Amino acid sequence: MTHTIVGIDLGTTNSLCAVFKDGQPQLVPNVHGDFLTPSVVGVMDDQQVIVGAPAKELRVTHPQKCSSCFKRWMGTDQKVVLNGKEFTPVELSSLVLKSLKQDVENHLRENIHHAVITVPAYFNDNQRKATKRAGEMAGFRVARMINEPTAAALTYGFHDRQAEKNLIVIDLGGGTFDVTLMEIFEGTLEIISTAGECMLGGEDFTDRLVSAVLKKEGMQLESAELKYPLQVARLREECDSAKRALADFEKSEIRMPNHDGVFDPSAKKLSINHENFAAICKPLMERLKKPVERALRDGQLSPDKIDEVILVGGATRMPVLRSFAKEYFGREPHIKFDPDQVVALGASVQAALIDDDDAVDDMVMTDVCPFTLGVEITKEFGGRFTSGFFSPIIHRNTTIPVSKEDTFYTLHSGQTEVNLRVFQGEARKVDDNLELGELSITGFPIGPAGQPFRVRFTYDLNGILEVEAIIEETGKRFALVLTQHAKSLTEAEIAEAVKRMQSIKFYPRDDLKNQRLVLFCERMVGEVGPFERQQLEEAIDIFEHAMSSNEREIFEKARQHLMMILSSLGIEYDQHNE
Ligand code: ADP
Ligand code: MG
Repeated sequence: MTHTIVGIDLGTTNSLCAVFKDGQPQLVPNVHGDFLTPSVVGVMDDQQVIVGAPAKELRVTHPQKCSSCFKRWMGTDQKVVLNGKEFTPVELSSLVLKSLKQDVENHLRENIHHAVITVPAYFNDNQRKATKRAGEMAGFRVARMINEPTAAALTYGFHDRQAEKNLIVIDLGGGTFDVTLMEIFEGTLEIISTAGECMLGGEDFTDRLVSAVLKKEGMQLESAELKYPLQVARLREECDSAKRALADFEKSEIRMPNHDGVFDPSAKKLSINHENFAAICKPLMERLKKPVERALRDGQLSPDKIDEVILVGGATRMPVLRSFAKEYFGREPHIKFDPDQVVALGASVQAALIDDDDAVDDMVMTDVCPFTLGVEITKEFGGRFTSGFFSPIIHRNTTIPVSKEDTFYTLHSGQTEVNLRVFQGEARKVDDNLELGELSITGFPIGPAGQPFRVRFTYDLNGILEVEAIIEETGKRFALVLTQHAKSLTEAEIAEAVKRMQSIKFYPRDDLKNQRLVLFCERMVGEVGPFERQQLEEAIDIFEHAMSSNEREIFEKARQHLMMILSSLGIEYDQHNE
């Protein structure tokens, strides 16, 4: 292998990396030694950006300086202001990716340039493009984007290659829900159908619990969040822990923080059990059922034809979900791999497939387009033209990559131009679908109505759509420039954003100067006497510890202390020559 392609699960709540090494997918720990990096970004008062566990910590006391769950806003124009600095969801995601990139580079001691990034199957074209941009901003070449449940299936498929069965992957993460139906036979993994919702996840279960607790106290979530943000932030942490505890215990407890987010000695305690929780979350469970039903319907399989139910995503640990799966499919779900890790592991299997690694040379995988793609057409009813109808070109759950063409005609005599609007969705009328962009086709030869033009849709393995149109008579070709795409970022704006992100001060551990100082001191440890050695080692320990705290002040103090010890030992360290 000449270059490593890292597999990244860029999650709403947590992100993970894996690489394919020595014939196996392997997770890569971050700088804190954890596999999970919280997808949280924070901005400190001195404008330092922090990512992951320290940002999650900061969020408890300073929620307004931190952003999380921004994956939900990918592909939109939503902006977030953190400590006076404005960020787009793409920029926030790129900061998480950049932090992961550094972790992998530190761990493998090599520069990484290529990544496979996973996205929810239900991510639309805009969301996928936004994810790709985030990868590019972080300095990656995005070798492939694959659907999260497909990645999960790849992990299972890799370890169970010769099986012959129908699987369903149920992936409930922090913010998204995906269902994928697939078949494995003789090393071939065929995705049959997929369905999901990108605004439904484990965080909604926490939210409902928070709402229910606040309601008991006579408060409403939305207004309480505005009035008492600290109280709500702390209560959300409490509810999240209580929700998680139900995976292992019969009941759990929620302490009620005061308006300032502090637990008074007399803080009220509420107890919650499986029954209460299931009742509170009933509407969410109803919503979860729909995509499961749709995936089965599209795949023309009934629940009893499913040989294995695979659970993926942290929120599938909830007993309420497990009992639903068991009841619906009439069998115990399958949890051979940690639901948190299986997507990242599969992304690295995909990386091995791209890299033609010998360990996967007998594996083949096919994926599908998760939604219908088409254009707006006008229909004629009794001599009257009515526009706004959706004409599919690529039907949902078509195996990809796919390229399909359809012929359309001008409506009026003398018409020289057609404005072709492109949509994604399942509805008959375009207004109920998502508009992806429009293509202006100009220069039709003057003539009667009914001039033909061909429209070709090409949907690639990354799930990105290309649209082209050709006027039959002249052979003139047009390719789609998506309006949404233009609205979000131009090439120049990306370059500008990349520059801006590079200039953002990062975590102290990323600073080469600090790393250099540690290396220098470590070298000195071997050169001084035993007593001095102990002093120096202690000072290095304090400094290293301070580097992973997110407090500027502590870090500065530790640095000063280390410099002082160095000079007291008569060691000269030339700071300007660093
Ligand atoms: P994502 O892929 O969106 O980052 P994850 O797969 O990491 O999400 O899942 C995160 C979600 O799982 C969160 O909503 C979290 O509260 C929930 N979760 C994690 N562990 C548990 C547990 N033991 N019980 C219930 N929910 C859990
Ligand atoms: Mg996930």
